[in-house]
Amino acid sequence: MSHPPVVTRFAPSPTGYLHVGNLRTALFNWMIARQKGGTFILRIDDTDASRSKQEYVDGIREDLEWLGLTWDDSFSQSDRFAEYDAAAETLRGMGLLYPCYETADELERKRKIALSRGRPPVYDRSALNLSEEDKAKLRESRSGHWRFKLDQERIEWNDGILGPQSIDAASVSDPVLIRGDGQLLYTLASVTDDMDMGITHVVRGLDHVTNTATQIQITRALGSEPPAYAHHSLLTGPQGEALSKRLGTLALRDLRERGVEPMALVSLMARIGSGQPVEVVDSLDALVAEFDLGR
Ligand code: GLU
Repeated sequence: MSHPPVVTRFAPSPTGYLHVGNLRTALFNWMIARQKGGTFILRIDDTDASRSKQEYVDGIREDLEWLGLTWDDSFSQSDRFAEYDAAAETLRGMGLLYPCYETADELERKRKIALSRGRPPVYDRSALNLSEEDKAKLRESRSGHWRFKLDQERIEWNDGILGPQSIDAASVSDPVLIRGDGQLLYTLASVTDDMDMGITHVVRGLDHVTNTATQIQITRALGSEPPAYAHHSLLTGPQGEALSKRLGTLALRDLRERGVEPMALVSLMARIGSGQPVEVVDSLDALVAEFDLGR
């Protein structure tokens, strides 16, 4: 049986400089592509224009180049809104993208009520019961946001790191794909890109597990098979705190300025948390040759 060529991507949002945790994500995807003679894509996730900055796009490129993590292709999500709109239109046509008019306060109230009754704070889909008249009336004073209608079944995948995963879609709120101000969100943009670019493997942080469940359904609804997913643990600071691109903790550029050697950093980040010895490896080629996601 022949397999499709391996295509991976690293997809940072340019909202800060890369830190050591981001480097791990980049490295795993880069090593998979290099090991399989595949393609590695740098994707800039800049759908949120208010938070994205060119300075950070440049910084991300400089940092990856410093470490020798070269990419074969690169693009920005902000250049692809037409494709995302088309995907949204397809979902609308299938009745899988529906308008909602609750305000943030109303949603918060619903959440609190659900929690106080011991129920999971899942969106109750009341927007699905609105008549055309109701909607027209609401539109006079509110701009609607759009949610994807999850099929309430179990979503399963065999995770490249975590092993077999299963999430009950009924325990997840229908994800908002388009905000009230019309901004198209990452969830749909990412699915559209992964399909269009033929992405075969996605390695990303554990914080994306729920996204993965919903993205698997969106991908299938759009007529494609999802890529193979793997979720790695997240590095934390010494007090257990999350690393933050926006706060600039353990930024790659600071380590560079402090004279850290690229291969020292890359060797550590490629192997920390794995069953392989954490030691300085001579070259990227040697790291790639011995890389095994399963470990
Ligand atoms: N922009 C997302 C992030 O930085 C990308 C997640 C993904 O790999 O799909 O977390």
